[in-house]
Amino acid sequence: MSLSDLRALSNRYGSNPDYVLGGGGNTSFKENGILYVKASGQRLSDMTEEGFVAMEVEKLRSIAAREYEGTDKEVEAAVLADMMAARLPGEDKRPSVEAAVHALMEGAYVLHIHPNLLNGITCARQGEITLKVMLQGLALWIPEIKPGYTLAHKASGDLAKFKEEHGAPCQIMFLQNHGVFFTADTVEEIDRLTAALFGAFGRFSPILPSAEPTAKASPLSETLSALAEGKKVLFEGSDLIDAGLAADYFEKLPTFTPDHMVYCGHKFLLTTPEGLAADYEAFAASEGFAPKVVGIKGVGAFAVGESDYKAGLILALLKDAIKIALYAEGSGGPRFQSSFLVNFIRNWEVETYRAGAISDK
Ligand SMILES: [Zn+2]
Repeated sequence: MSLSDLRALSNRYGSNPDYVLGGGGNTSFKENGILYVKASGQRLSDMTEEGFVAMEVEKLRSIAAREYEGTDKEVEAAVLADMMAARLPGEDKRPSVEAAVHALMEGAYVLHIHPNLLNGITCARQGEITLKVMLQGLALWIPEIKPGYTLAHKASGDLAKFKEEHGAPCQIMFLQNHGVFFTADTVEEIDRLTAALFGAFGRFSPILPSAEPTAKASPLSETLSALAEGKKVLFEGSDLIDAGLAADYFEKLPTFTPDHMVYCGHKFLLTTPEGLAADYEAFAASEGFAPKVVGIKGVGAFAVGESDYKAGLILALLKDAIKIALYAEGSGGPRFQSSFLVNFIRNWEVETYRAGAISDK
């Protein structure tokens, strides 16, 4: 039981693009009242032992339990100040926004990831029912909620209630339109929990079209490159991408979870070869940002980013969102975040910080 085990756990789950992408997800380890939690903006795949922030478990639990008063902005600022003050002396990194939830979960290790297979449940219309049927009440379901303090406050009450009803602490918590938390006292038990869930839901889920690229280049990349004024453009075609392009909700795909929105914006552009230039400009003018994903039926999808790494990440998040949508078909079809939450995330300071903090490889 140590920080090096936590680093190994983080790297292992963080290296699987079907579990987590970019700076998403987080891990922690607690011992003697101290929580070691991932710093914001770090990637799980290349975490080192220095990438964790040491914080006081009890202080974090009391932040989650407390009622803060004031406007959204005032509450955010007060919570951020209390979070920073919950760090051990000498710590200068900013903790993950989900640090308080890590403190609430009772196992020594906490793993929080955004796996597309399980997000096929959290982002499905009948997700909560499917979860109840599959796990017989063994997992906690948290309905769509503002991330950060609001989530931690809700989890504080619901985790306590779960423990009272079950006579044991909750080990698996599903967050609607977000991801899943696992907790256990050993890394081996975390692995047993994830293997059991991936096995069960894997058998139950639809088989996806092949993600193997059928095309890696398109003459339209040059047109898009010129429109995007020097940004990097990546193109891919595959059966999986075709399935996404055929869905009538293609443009809404990034509103599945906060993570997709952070890197891809809140909307994709769907256009035609002839309409590309005009639609690109019209999208930028009406949405206030240039499209980061451009889909063309019968052609494929383009990811536009400031660097090769960022364009690659955007492409990966597009494929991830398509997988979620297809898995969700097994539970009543996809369910996107409400427009209230979409607008909240668009303006959220913490996520702006996270998107900016992720470095190129
Ligand atoms: Zn998350």
